[in-house]
This record gives sequence, structure tokens and C-alpha cells, in this order.
Amino acid sequence: MGFFSSKKDQEKLSGGMRKTREHFFGKLARVVAGKSRVDPDVLDELEEMLITSDVGVQTTVKIIERIEARVSKDKYMSTAELDTILEEEVAAQMVEGTEAHSPITFDLQDAPKPLVLLVVGVNGVGKTTSIGKLAHRFKQAGKKVVLGAADTFRAAAVDQLTIWSERAQVDIVSKGMNTDPSAVAFETLQKALSEEADVVLIDTAGRLHNKVNLMNELSKIRRVLQKLVPEAPHEVLLVLDGSTGQNALEQAKQFTAATDVSGLVLTKLDGTAKGGVVIGIASEFGIPVRFIGVGEGMEDLQVFDANGFVRSLFDKG
Ligand code: GDP
Ligand code: MG
Repeated sequence: MGFFSSKKDQEKLSGGMRKTREHFFGKLARVVAGKSRVDPDVLDELEEMLITSDVGVQTTVKIIERIEARVSKDKYMSTAELDTILEEEVAAQMVEGTEAHSPITFDLQDAPKPLVLLVVGVNGVGKTTSIGKLAHRFKQAGKKVVLGAADTFRAAAVDQLTIWSERAQVDIVSKGMNTDPSAVAFETLQKALSEEADVVLIDTAGRLHNKVNLMNELSKIRRVLQKLVPEAPHEVLLVLDGSTGQNALEQAKQFTAATDVSGLVLTKLDGTAKGGVVIGIASEFGIPVRFIGVGEGMEDLQVFDANGFVRSLFDKG
């Protein structure tokens, strides 16, 4: 268990991953049905199973190649061993894809002060909710948090973030609907600096009139933040709805092509059967998964840990 993930978090994640796990093992059972050894047919079916479990083609091919190499070394590999071998290879892929990045933990060890996080992503993926949960968890860790309501496109977005600020008992800077998002961002950071806050979380609109508009808006927010703190934002977090499977991967590709993204947040991993998408995104995307959302409650956001994730997927206890 990673030092930053509690037993409660692991249980919550395992609970949330139940459907993905059942989907995964239901398919695995069909792959090995009536077979005693891992042969080329089993490997073919395993490959198809991984792809249809939202793992992604590139990651699937790597996993299959590694299992193939093991099969050709061992003379006889029984299908009973396959789930253990698969667990090892999925873990290896994910850990390899993530080990270059150290996580952002709620205790903010070695982080700049204030740590400025800009949160982006299309409408409905869970940006505002994730900010609320992050605020709560940072606050629980004893950190001073300031939220910036820079999604000024819809009145409901400002209201929703205000409600989260009350729930989490953290400060918020809000200038209402239709105000300039970069002015909100600027004032938020100004307040954080003057009050020596530890972390700044800035919400943004998922949809403006068009894509160019959105990207210009994000660039403008960056520029005004940099007037106060040259390195800000320290992270641009792209939020993706994990329950959309391959669409999440597609959104990640489009968004990262259009703007600089430094970290990912994968939401709605509770109650979806498409959690396999995390394997592909963590392994091949080159951008670290920072946090995962596992429910709608305040506590339902965790620091992403590849080993903990694999454990939840293969947890049969
Ligand atoms: P935004 O438009 O990106 O700001 O998305 P919101 O934060 O408004 O979230 C959209 C919906 O997704 C809300 O109903 C949230 O409660 C829900 N949501 C966000 N994260 C999660 C999660 O991890 N699990 C579940 N089950 N629902 C979530
Ligand atoms: Mg929102």
C-alpha cells in the first residue's frame, strides 16, 4: 500500500471497481473456458478481451507480447495461472507508465506555496465536483485552500462551486456569471498570496462558443496568473469521465493537442464497467493520472496509485 492511500480509500476503490472487475473476470472466464493451457487461441481471445475492456490497443499489444514471451519460456502455462500473470503484466505496464512522476499528495510535501492548479475539461466530466473534493481533502490535511470560480459561463457553475466551498469550509473568489474568467483567476491568486494559502484551485468553463475561444481563454488565464507567480499554474489538470471508456481517451488526445495539460483526473470510476480505460491512459499517455473520482461524496477522490488500482481490479476478497 502506498503511503498516501488509506485502507478506507482502498476499500472504496475496490467497491467502486466491482462492475469493471466483474466485466473483466467474466470475460476472462470465457477466454479460458474448457482450456487447460495458455495457447495461441487463448492469447488471441485474451487480446480481444482486453481491447473490448477499454484497455486500449497499444497497451493491450504490449501486455500480450509480454505474456507470449513468458509462455514461450515456460513449456506449459496453465490457464489457472492466467489471472495472476495478467495482474503482474497489467501492473508492470501501469507502473512503468507512471513511475517517472511523483504524485501530488494532500500533505503537499515539497510543493510550491501556493500550489496553483488549473482545472480544465469538457462540461459534465466532474471538474467542479473534483475541485470540491480536492478542497475538502487538502483542508482535512490542514492546508489553506482558495477556490476560484472562473467558470463564469453558467450561473449554476458559480453556485455549485460556492456550495462546495461551504461544504469544504474553504475560501472562494467569485465575481458571478459572465465576468472575465481571467480576472477571477487573478484575484484568486492575489488573495491566496496575501493570505499565505497553500493551494489554489481554479475552475474553468468546459464549453465556450468554440474550441479556439476556449483555448484562448485558457491561455489568457495562464498569462494573468503568471503576472503574479511566474511558474503558475503549476499543474493543468484535465478531468476525464472514466465511465465513457474510449471517449475519455479520445478527449484526452484532443485536449492535450490543443493546450498544455500536465495531469489527469479520472472521474466516475464507481459503478462503471469501463474502468479498464485507466490501464491504457496510465500506461501510454505520458501524462500522469493524478487523482481518481470514486463517487459523488466529499471523500470520494483519491491520489492515484497504479499499484492500488491494479489491486482493486484483481481484488477477489
Ligand atoms: P463539470 O461540468 O465538469 O464541472 O462537472 P460536475 O462537477 O458538475 O459533475 C457532473 C456530474 O458528475 C455531477 O452530477 C457529479 O456529481 C457527477 N460526478 C463527478 N465526479 C463523480 C464521480 O467520481 N463519481 C460519480 N458517480 N459521479 C461523479
Ligand atoms: Mg463545473
